[in-house]
Amino acid sequence: MSQPPAAGAVAFIGAVAFIGLGRMGLPMAARLAQAGVPVRAYDSSPAARASAQAAGLPVADSIQAAAAGADVVITMLPASAHVLECYAAILGELKDSAVLLDCSTAGVAGAGAIHAAARERGLASLDAPVSGGVDGATAGTLTFMVGGEAADLARVEPLLAAMGRRVFHCGPPGAGQAAKICNNLILGASMIAVSEAFVLGEALGLSPQSLYDVASTSSGRCFALTENCPAPGPRPASPANHGYQAGFAGDLMLKDLRLAQAAAREAGVAARLGEQAAAIYERFSAEGRGALDFSGVIVSIRESGTAPREAP
Ligand code: NAD
Repeated sequence: MSQPPAAGAVAFIGAVAFIGLGRMGLPMAARLAQAGVPVRAYDSSPAARASAQAAGLPVADSIQAAAAGADVVITMLPASAHVLECYAAILGELKDSAVLLDCSTAGVAGAGAIHAAARERGLASLDAPVSGGVDGATAGTLTFMVGGEAADLARVEPLLAAMGRRVFHCGPPGAGQAAKICNNLILGASMIAVSEAFVLGEALGLSPQSLYDVASTSSGRCFALTENCPAPGPRPASPANHGYQAGFAGDLMLKDLRLAQAAAREAGVAARLGEQAAAIYERFSAEGRGALDFSGVIVSIRESGTAPREAP
């Protein structure tokens, strides 16, 4: 008689190849291993492989060795080009029943190319970008936005449940990436609006706490204000109180805003605020601040306002 799975264990019995053991991938792979999933991990960086080994993950010496016999291949890589490069190395080796699950923020066009590569080889594939950041990956509380067939999603759902708290099936292939970049377009633009409001409030003699108290209980309320407040003080846990260290890097926000612009151009949509937001994060990056949390854009906005006013 088979034993029921232990509490918290995953009912999924297949083998998982996990490719990409960076800031997000390593804690995600570790969550799977903790849930009893047989994981074989791989990263092209020897340092990342060493960190994974130190964390107790079984690490393969090559991407082919990681993928051999896998039922699911999870990729968590910087961009679509890296995913396609990995697929080129392993698609020929995989079982016909394998599912490809790409969790990278690969963009809509990138997802199209990734799904096409899988389709050409006759393999099931899902785009499943995440939100929740490194903290969410470590705590297993990520949100997955999934594009692809419902039946393929059902096969990997126990894995997603081990790494996250919410799974949204957004629609056909590419819909997960569409949801991700649309969400981050809202976040990037609203962080700039909140930052401009605090800088303007300061210039008008309003304390950050007064503005926070009013806006957080009024129609200005949004995530950028209440969870990631760019002004130090009102929200002690936000990166603003720690020199904008850690959090969600401005460079990653810039990447997502550029993906949103590319998708908007392709779809014939005039996303002008998104275009402005991308330009503002480009300046933030060019100032050497791209590794800081994206709420640090308030510093950039404050400094750019010191130019002398034009005569009326
Ligand atoms: P990262 O740069 O820390 O990790 C990427 C890893 O991929 C690196 O270890 C790198 O060596 C490895 N890699 C690159 N090319 C490879 C290849 N060809 N074969 C094998 N390994 C390869 O990036 P991250 O912060 O973990 O982000 C991963 C993805 O998740 C990105 O698409 C990012 O936009 C997205 N994301 C990140 C966050 C975040 O807060 N960091 C939040 C949400 C989404």
